Amino acid sequence: MKEHEIRPQDLLNRYLELSALDARSCFTEDSRQDVSCVACGNDKPSFQFDKHGFSYVQCKSCGTLYLSPRPSAEAYEQFYRDSVSSQYWADVFFPAVAEVRREKIFRPRVEKLAQICTDHDFTVERLVDIGAGYGIFLDEWKKCFADVDAVAVEPSTSLASECRAKGLRVVESVAENAGGLDNFADLVVCFEVLEHVTDPLAFMNILKGMTRPGGYVFISTLCIDGFDLQMLWEKSTQISPPHHINILSVDGFKRLFSRAGLVDVEISTPGQLDVDIVRNVSESDSSLLVGQRFIKSLVENDVTASMFQSFLSENCLSSHAWVLGKNPI
Ligand SMILES: [Zn+2]
Repeated sequence: MKEHEIRPQDLLNRYLELSALDARSCFTEDSRQDVSCVACGNDKPSFQFDKHGFSYVQCKSCGTLYLSPRPSAEAYEQFYRDSVSSQYWADVFFPAVAEVRREKIFRPRVEKLAQICTDHDFTVERLVDIGAGYGIFLDEWKKCFADVDAVAVEPSTSLASECRAKGLRVVESVAENAGGLDNFADLVVCFEVLEHVTDPLAFMNILKGMTRPGGYVFISTLCIDGFDLQMLWEKSTQISPPHHINILSVDGFKRLFSRAGLVDVEISTPGQLDVDIVRNVSESDSSLLVGQRFIKSLVENDVTASMFQSFLSENCLSSHAWVLGKNPI
């Protein structure tokens, strides 16, 4: 898989332009508050950089990168409901890549998650997808496991309609307000949402509360320990306020899941794009790899680039992480 297959350059650039405009126009500065580390709770971060009028800090204890000060949950709710960049993502960007992502991301995701369940000798009769979007994951899961009782939790009216059109049961709400799912699920999944939420610990507590004792919570999200994020840092398009505000480290994942009362936490980074992302940026920004001859030759050769990506994925060094935790019995 290549970055441009799932993020076409012209659409990505337009989305980033709109996001930068929204970052300046959608939030007032006086309502922002400093926050402790969103992963471990440590309250002595070090400032890293400003981007589009927002500040990112890094936790000195666990290494998590996060937005602080940050706007209120209410301001974010309005932003995700009304902002131009959020509408563009839902109405233009995602539909353009939905079928590519179905094939390249969602089907393999179902296969790998099903394998994880098998490895843990674990049957999924009740499944909840938080931030289900177009419902593609649940749609693909039901093709393999037709009897599953699957619930899509999705706050966007238009995306909730897309889920219903696929025959899914839908709770049209953010996770925090989705009632009736206490202790419901054998498995709660949440893909590419944690990086957006204003209070990750409260959010993880909600997900755990939807899981039956002995059930599992699974998330995928960005990981700050990954190669492309470490190489690009503030130049990364993934570190993009106001959307991506929590970018946890591997240690941060362990500590966040532990604080939420989840046990037997397993972390992997099956990302496939780190090297391709760095190579793409270096092609348009010749200063990026100046003086880094070894890295430059490694990423520019197709064979070594592929081998290096495998090495990153297998050693928790990719910026795309999967985290699984168990709700204790
Ligand atoms: Zn921390």
